[in-house]
Amino acid sequence: MGRFSNKVWKVLGAQSTRNQSRSVALIEQSAAFDEWAQGLSDAEFPDAALALDVYDAKTQDRARFIAVAREAADRALGLRPFDVQLQGADRLLEGDVVEMATGEGKTLAGAVAAAGMALAGRSVHVISPNDYLARRDAEWMKPFFDLLDVTVGYVAESSTREERRAAYAKDVVYGSVNEIGFDVLRDQLATRAEDLLSPKPDVAIVDEADSVLVDEALIPLVLAGSVKGDVPQAAIMEVVARLRQGKHYEVDSDGKSAFLTDDGARLVEEELGGIDLYSDAHVGSTLPQVNIALHAYSLVERDVHYIVRDGEVKLINSSRGRVAELQRWPDGLQAAVEAKEGLSQTDSGEVIDTITVQALLQRYALVCGMTGTAIAAGEQLRQFYDLGVSQIPPNTPNIRVDQPMRVFDNKGNKVAAIVDYVREVHETGQPVLIGTHDVAESEELVHMLKISGVTATVLNAKNDADEARIIADAGTRGAVTVSTQMAGRGTDIKLGGHDAGDDSAEHDEVAELGGLAVVGTGLHDTERLDQQLRGRAGRQGDPGTSVIFASVEDPIVERHLPLKRSPGGADPETGEFPRGKAADMLDSAQRVAEGGMLETHANTWRYNQLVNQQRDLVMARRHTLLTTDRPLVDFEEYEPERLDALRAEIDDDVLEQAAREAFLYHLDRTWAEHLAFVSEVQTTIHLRALGRQSPLDEFHRLVIEEFRKLPDEAVRRARETLREAEITADGIDLAGADLGRNTLTWTYMVHDNPFATKGMANMFGMI
Ligand code: ADP
Ligand code: MG
Repeated sequence: MGRFSNKVWKVLGAQSTRNQSRSVALIEQSAAFDEWAQGLSDAEFPDAALALDVYDAKTQDRARFIAVAREAADRALGLRPFDVQLQGADRLLEGDVVEMATGEGKTLAGAVAAAGMALAGRSVHVISPNDYLARRDAEWMKPFFDLLDVTVGYVAESSTREERRAAYAKDVVYGSVNEIGFDVLRDQLATRAEDLLSPKPDVAIVDEADSVLVDEALIPLVLAGSVKGDVPQAAIMEVVARLRQGKHYEVDSDGKSAFLTDDGARLVEEELGGIDLYSDAHVGSTLPQVNIALHAYSLVERDVHYIVRDGEVKLINSSRGRVAELQRWPDGLQAAVEAKEGLSQTDSGEVIDTITVQALLQRYALVCGMTGTAIAAGEQLRQFYDLGVSQIPPNTPNIRVDQPMRVFDNKGNKVAAIVDYVREVHETGQPVLIGTHDVAESEELVHMLKISGVTATVLNAKNDADEARIIADAGTRGAVTVSTQMAGRGTDIKLGGHDAGDDSAEHDEVAELGGLAVVGTGLHDTERLDQQLRGRAGRQGDPGTSVIFASVEDPIVERHLPLKRSPGGADPETGEFPRGKAADMLDSAQRVAEGGMLETHANTWRYNQLVNQQRDLVMARRHTLLTTDRPLVDFEEYEPERLDALRAEIDDDVLEQAAREAFLYHLDRTWAEHLAFVSEVQTTIHLRALGRQSPLDEFHRLVIEEFRKLPDEAVRRARETLREAEITADGIDLAGADLGRNTLTWTYMVHDNPFATKGMANMFGMI
């Protein structure tokens, strides 16, 4: 709460209290319509529902809708929504991000809101954390939507074009942010209006909203086409591999940037044949490559940031702690890491189009969402999306006991204490869930547990469906499950096992033992992730405990409070500090980390915004070319003689399509070239901005200037094509004019763009 001034907090608090009492009142009013809803036959539901407009303030339609939804869910799903779920749905209809704890039934709350919006004529996308959940939730909720005659579908990576087209035609579509985003990007390849797939964005209901809207906001989704990428020179990789930290290079305290010392620069210069890295000939070419190689060796760690599997570098998604199949780093870094691991270079391709998750979501007219931790993300949600948050109380009071953090003097003592604690709890039969920070740590812990006689199930880097199954059983008597961060997100843990009902003997037995015991192996960079881990226990009024073990040597302290001295007073035997100072130190490291992340987000967003606006302009032009007769009009204006000659033999429709393809081709080419320019400027901006006031201003100046040339250049090239390319009754022969489109395209997400942060400036040793 430290981030808010008290006054701001009070205003927000008052607002949300008012909203909450309004929702409570609405749910009470809806009771008056319960009897009416119960009296409807299944066949009468669609008409009754369709007559309702939840956004009509003059009627009681919202209250009526709540009654209908309650009855429909009961009948179709066997789930009678709790009042709190309907309160959540009501706040979603108002466009808030609602905070509801794990296991409170956010899926159903989201579906009720989606149905209400669909009945009011809106088109709804429910953004799921992954493909597995998109499908699970769409199929699970389908009978409810069916009863209201609201159509529902989902898209997943494996969906065919036809399946996607059918899904997007539904009132409500479930899909992960990347699948929906990739479809938006793939529309860049359409040369006919009927090939467009993505619908006009209207409403997005985002599940696990903080993860998508905050943690993944700045990840660019990329559509690329095949061309050969840059590979860092072998000689550079070789010399950089030999550099030693402290002597040849330093790593910044936040672990985000590394830079050469004078010694290091000298060694590199010698080994590369006595060059001067900072001379005009090398400062823009060799030096950036050296820095990228250095980044690959010093900052990107195997089994923490990536794993090597099947001869490929697979990135680990830091906010979810599992392999991110579709992600890669920016090209130079990806190639450098592959070279470091002695793997063959993957084709990096040319970026055809790209959009960040944040920009993708900002295209929607209305964004709302649900998560277990909305309040703690409130500042980002307000600042970047202008979203309010609503806290919904739990259906049954939460009785989980969150024990105070236990802090140790070093990692060895911390791990020993964790192992002791887990063994003791395990001996009672109480299930234990341990949340670690990375794959390497989870494997190490499983090993240590094994030595002490505890067999743990480890959960990392698997597929979503497997993860869901393992995590769903983490509440079984005697289970010890080790998980990386938020693996298996979206699945709740029932006491007694995944199919143990809330009244079953298995459930009650584990509840008697104290429920699920959650153990954290250190603070996360944000308190939100700690809360999510703790929130795994104590669902729906179940008993449970949570405790976080930390050490003053944890990375979070090293990175964010590098100069802080360890407090004294640790127990000489166990290394455990008494409560107080040591825990305060960890907490303040976390606050520094949170502040840094917010600043980086704001900063990066400033760089992105301009390019997003430019993208909108290009897309608007593209849309006009695709959906109107503008191509022919322009052909006529620009090249009337050629057009007249062609018109003697060829129909206007064919000529219009020929012109369309020519204009689109060059618009897309110039946009791809512009993106390449932007990325070039991004990597070198701190060199270019040397001597000027602000790199951001300089970035804007260069990118605006370059973009200004784009429309004319695209038209100039298209005119040339229209003058010279072969145009017959079969259309225009672009390939024959050496203007073939990329035949091979693919999509990916760029992970952790190191160039978009202030880290780049540090990499070059400029600030
Ligand atoms: P969340 O996303 O909030 O963690 P889910 O939507 O996954 O929760 O639901 C968690 C569990 O609660 C599911 O097993 C679901 O069947 C159950 N559930 C949801 N709503 C109700 C309800 N109204 N009555 C009984 N069980 C419910
Ligand atoms: Mg959920």
